Amino acid sequence: MSRVIIVSNRLPVAIPTDPTLPLTGSAGGLGTSMKGVHETGDSLWIGWSGLADVDLSKDRQEELTDLRYATVPISAEEIREYYDGISNSLIWPLFHYLIHQLPYDGQGWQTYRKINQRFANTIAAHYQSGNAVWIHDYHLTLVPGMLRELIPDAQIGFFLHIPFPSSEVFRAFPWREEMLQGLLGADLVGFHTFDYSRHFASSLVRILGAEPEVDRVVHEGRTVHFGAFPISIDVTGFAKRAASTSVQEMVQKMRSQQTERFLGLGIDRLDYTKGIPRRLLAVERFFDKYPDYRGQFRFLQIAVPTRETSAAYADFRSFVNELVGRINSKHGALNAAPVHLLYRSVDATELSALYLAADLMMVTPLRDGMNLVAKEFVASRIDGMGVLMLSEFAGAAAELGEAILVNPYDIESVADRIRDCLQMDEVERRGRMSLLARRIKQTDNRFWSRSFLSRLESIAQEPRVPFCSPESIQGQIAKRESRKPMFLLDYDGTLIGIKDRPAMAAPDVDLVDLIRQLSERHADRFWIVSGRHRADLGEWFPDARVNMIAEHGLWVRHRGTWSKTVEVDASWTEKLRPILASFAERTPGSQIEEKSASIAWHYRMADPELGPAQAKELRLHLLESFSNLPVQILNGKMCVEIRVQGVNKGITARQIMDRFPHDCLIAAGDDQTDEDLFKTLPADAVTIKIGNGMTGANFRMRTPAHLRTLLRFFV
Ligand code: UDP
Repeated sequence: MSRVIIVSNRLPVAIPTDPTLPLTGSAGGLGTSMKGVHETGDSLWIGWSGLADVDLSKDRQEELTDLRYATVPISAEEIREYYDGISNSLIWPLFHYLIHQLPYDGQGWQTYRKINQRFANTIAAHYQSGNAVWIHDYHLTLVPGMLRELIPDAQIGFFLHIPFPSSEVFRAFPWREEMLQGLLGADLVGFHTFDYSRHFASSLVRILGAEPEVDRVVHEGRTVHFGAFPISIDVTGFAKRAASTSVQEMVQKMRSQQTERFLGLGIDRLDYTKGIPRRLLAVERFFDKYPDYRGQFRFLQIAVPTRETSAAYADFRSFVNELVGRINSKHGALNAAPVHLLYRSVDATELSALYLAADLMMVTPLRDGMNLVAKEFVASRIDGMGVLMLSEFAGAAAELGEAILVNPYDIESVADRIRDCLQMDEVERRGRMSLLARRIKQTDNRFWSRSFLSRLESIAQEPRVPFCSPESIQGQIAKRESRKPMFLLDYDGTLIGIKDRPAMAAPDVDLVDLIRQLSERHADRFWIVSGRHRADLGEWFPDARVNMIAEHGLWVRHRGTWSKTVEVDASWTEKLRPILASFAERTPGSQIEEKSASIAWHYRMADPELGPAQAKELRLHLLESFSNLPVQILNGKMCVEIRVQGVNKGITARQIMDRFPHDCLIAAGDDQTDEDLFKTLPADAVTIKIGNGMTGANFRMRTPAHLRTLLRFFV
């Protein structure tokens, strides 16, 4: 595997301000998950040191370099805006669906941008050809795009460790286009679950007007892949630690000191996304409803300090404290408190012992990208016991279906589920736990990083067709010293931009003039090759010198005379018309177009998600019900076209090419039907794809305007 540059906001070490004190490892899901990659491979890790406004000593720098760490300096003021402000006060709550938490003054975007640029520059300074760059998380969403600018052919992966929200929520983000463009600088964008990946795709449709497929989109002439790569933990490590003597002794001690029959456990950073208040309210409700459990059940919440400088977090902490006080006053006894809140972190041995000692693990976040605690609990239960209660809104729920899944907002039902869990018989408990254990064993953290990196590597092998300037393509053609070039040019989306309605695409004066000049100069070697109805083309280009192939190859106009290339029976259109009409009726903004031997349903004006979904449905319906008809279904640009079999642009273009001598072929097109044409042309033809989308062409241009600039070289 090639050298990996890992990039995250923070380096995975805690660096004391006192240069004489040693470095210590710092916890955190990201750090732990990527440690394997960094320790076992050839890698460099780039991140902030965690110390603002501090110049690291020379010795410290050397120590970090030896550990293959490189730092990005950030000042205290920048941290306030980039990290506390945009990252943690805006992106974090929004991406966890907590829109009401967004501050009124969303300032700091300039700084977020500036720091992202600093990261990109630092990566570029360390980058060596062939390296894979793996950028992590919501602090650095613009880095992929910025790095792409600096190193166009870099291999860039991005992984988001938090949820990607529904497009309905994401669209509230003030710099939504810029963030999507930033992410699309990557070759591969990874999420924890398929749902997040789906939300991302629908944001691309709704906000950028892109046309993604289920796991990829063509952006700026590059294919950007995206998908689910659920992060995991060191499953064997947790199991080993759980079996260790120190942990086993601690569990014994905990159990012997416990007076209640059951222990419920929560372990979270004290973050408002973790659902701690509602979890406590559910515990309260449980005691209200089932008072026999007083003195029988104790709930221990470990609340790990987090983002302590933030006022919102300080207020939240007092709120949780008050809640615990209230529940204990209501349901406690002189010598026992049913809820125990510890505001501190625990060490690895304590953590494992707690996981093993708990009868019920409550993981009930309101939203959570994945939630590693849920997986760690399962990995630690080497005794096959314990019950996991898991929020439906944690990414982990997509994998851990045998947990007791709950809606954390439904406090009444969570209270009932607590009782169900405590009453669950041993057979069911063991059955669920063994299925969970088996599942997480198959996909541990090594599997996660390996699958992401190998996917990134395989993408790098794919051929790329980046955008070219008119001048560079002209340069390539000039090398051939052609004296008789032949042109085969699609019309819509190629010579003129795509219009909302097909009837609106009449040529402008400049285009008519350009086509006239090219037709005059190259005569029989200049051809418009379109899927359009011949009546439209004839009306737009009345000049008899303009040669054209219409209706995907069915009609040819040479020197002003139309002829049909083959006789076809188009009576089948009668059967299809009512089907297309019903789709047009059910899909506002869509419409039908009829030609001599084809019928098309256009949905460019329809809702950007409904249109493609209906198109998929229509294609399925046609394939299932009309497979006996002599037709072919084409996936055009925002259009499903059904045309007679045996006719396509490629077949007719071949006949033209054979008829008229030429020494170089130049073909351009923008959609699937043009790919038919590209496929039939000899390998040395200059084939040009206009715009994004998969292609077999050997060049790509950004817009019809660029193609026109190229064509002007030939008048
Ligand atoms: N954890 C920790 N210190 C503690 C308790 C837990 O570092 O005192 C770890 C825990 O083992 C887990 C991580 O913190 O690996 C929490 O990850 P999770 O995905 O559950 O939530 P996050 O904090 O990343 O939102």
